[in-house]
Amino acid sequence: MDLRRELQRAHDAARPTLATGRVADYIPALGAADPNAFGLALATVDGEVHGVGDWQTDFSIQSVSKLFTLALALATGEAVWHRVGREPSGTPFNSLVQLETEHGIPRNPFINAGAVVVTDRLLTLTGDAAGAVREFLRAESGNPRLDTDLVVAASEAEHGHRNAALAHFIASYGNLENPVEAVLGHYYAHCAITASCRDLALAGLFLARHGVRRNGGRLLSRSEAKRINAVLLTCGTYDAAGEFAYRVGLPGKSGVGGGILAVVPGRGTLCAWGPALDRAGNSVGAVAALDAFTTATGWSIF
Ligand code: GLN
Repeated sequence: MDLRRELQRAHDAARPTLATGRVADYIPALGAADPNAFGLALATVDGEVHGVGDWQTDFSIQSVSKLFTLALALATGEAVWHRVGREPSGTPFNSLVQLETEHGIPRNPFINAGAVVVTDRLLTLTGDAAGAVREFLRAESGNPRLDTDLVVAASEAEHGHRNAALAHFIASYGNLENPVEAVLGHYYAHCAITASCRDLALAGLFLARHGVRRNGGRLLSRSEAKRINAVLLTCGTYDAAGEFAYRVGLPGKSGVGGGILAVVPGRGTLCAWGPALDRAGNSVGAVAALDAFTTATGWSIF
């Protein structure tokens, strides 16, 4: 199969959908993103890397970072599962409503509430949660320039009333180990990392390799990698995870910067980016491109 040609076809088929989305502006620094930017990259476990469109342009990875915080936290043991669930929430990514009925245990690690708990765990484990994510991304992508955009991180902190509210609410149930301000600082800093489709496709390959890193070392056991992929499938795109599984048929993680990283276990990864989002906060162009690609190639898990 000519993978580059399939990427180009998926990219061309999805481009018209960009006009139906809206760039996130609740974090003001993200509002300046170009709604017509659009890229698609693929990396295989055999070492092939292909891309089309703006696949080498840096963007704000936002919640795609939550995949990496979870992997790094789980690499040290299962303890985090006592503090966060693994059921789809059916509510928006920044919702607080379930926290009260679930006694401060977020439904899953990919909604904001869950990611704050995982970031807290990683901060306890490493002393520098955002730094651990950044170093992992640099090592796996081979891009040493990959870094946090401090303007985006500051913008999110300044307008982060909702995340501050949910973090304090979680803390009120005793489910944070570190001060709220420190946890949020690391959370904003890993969300504000900038990377390209190419970088993220390469960085996600450990999940396609069933837990094995670029250098051949193992981050996760085969079974842990399976579990992360399962939670990505059921929770990685929030209250649209059912629709994403239906259309794309892959584990995937989205972010409000417009990126989606999807895993094809045993084969490779795909990363699509287009800043215009649907109402669930997922990139319309990225979902459409992944849908077109898996439909044409059969590269889904189903
Ligand atoms: N940093 C963003 C926030 O906390 C991440 C949300 C997202 O990408 N879905 O709102």
